[in-house]
Amino acid sequence: MSTSTRGAELADNLDVVRRRIAAACTAAGRPVDGVQLVVVTKFFPASDVRLLAGLGVTDVGENRHQEAEEKAAACADLGLRWHFIGGLQSNKAAAVAAYADVVESVDRRKLVSGLARGAAERGSGEVECLVQVSLDPPGADGRSGCDPADLDGLCAAVAEADGLRLGGLMAVAPLGGDPAAAFAELASYAARVRGAHPSATVLSAGMSGDLEEAVAAGATHVRVGRAVLGPRPTIQ
Ligand SMILES: *Cc1c(COP(=O)(O)O)cnc(C)c1O
Repeated sequence: MSTSTRGAELADNLDVVRRRIAAACTAAGRPVDGVQLVVVTKFFPASDVRLLAGLGVTDVGENRHQEAEEKAAACADLGLRWHFIGGLQSNKAAAVAAYADVVESVDRRKLVSGLARGAAERGSGEVECLVQVSLDPPGADGRSGCDPADLDGLCAAVAEADGLRLGGLMAVAPLGGDPAAAFAELASYAARVRGAHPSATVLSAGMSGDLEEAVAAGATHVRVGRAVLGPRPTIQ
C-alpha cells in the first residue's frame, strides 16, 4: 500500500475513534477533550507512527521492549510521548525507562529499582509510572496486573523511588467479562490511590472494544490499537 493510501486509511480510522471518544465523553457529561488517546502501534512499522504523528497523534503505546526501543529511536525526531504497556521483565526495566516517557505496566515491586536506575541514567526528568492492577476474579490465571491487595504498597514504592513519578493506574478488562463492572471496580481503586497520592490522577483503561465503558467509568487515557491501525499481523 502506498504511503498516501495508508495515510488516508489511518486518518479515517483516527477520525472514527476521536468521534467515539468525544461521544463517550458527552454521554458521561465530561468535557470532550478530557480523554487522552494513546494509539497502540505494536506490530506496525515506524512509517505508520510517522503518519500518525502527522495526523496529530501525540502519544503512542508499545508492548515489546525491543520493538519499542527501535521504533522510539527511529521516530526520535517526532516529539512523541512513548508509553510502554506490555509485560515487563525485571532485567529489561532499566532499558525501558531509558526511552519510555510513561511505563503503564508496573505490576510488582521488583521492577521499581530497575525503572529508577533507567530513569537516573536518562537524566531528563522523571519517568511517569502507572501501576497495573488486575481486574480478574481472584485465582484466575493468565493476565497481568498486581493483586488489588498489593496495590497500596506498590503505589507507595513507586511514589518513593527517585526518578519515578506515580501517575496513576492502568488496567485491562477481563476477557469475556463485563467491562463496565470491571472498570467500576477500577474506579474505586483509583479513588483510593488518589486519597493517598493526590497527584496520581491518570486512569488508563479502555481499548478498541471497550473504550466507551472506560470513559463512562472515568478513564483519562484510552489505549487504542486495532480501531486505528487495523487488524494486527498474527504473531509468528
Ligand atoms: C494491544 C493492547 C491494547 C490495544 O488493544 P486494541 O484492542 O488493539 O485496541 C491496549 N492495551 C494493552 C495493554 C495492549 O496490550
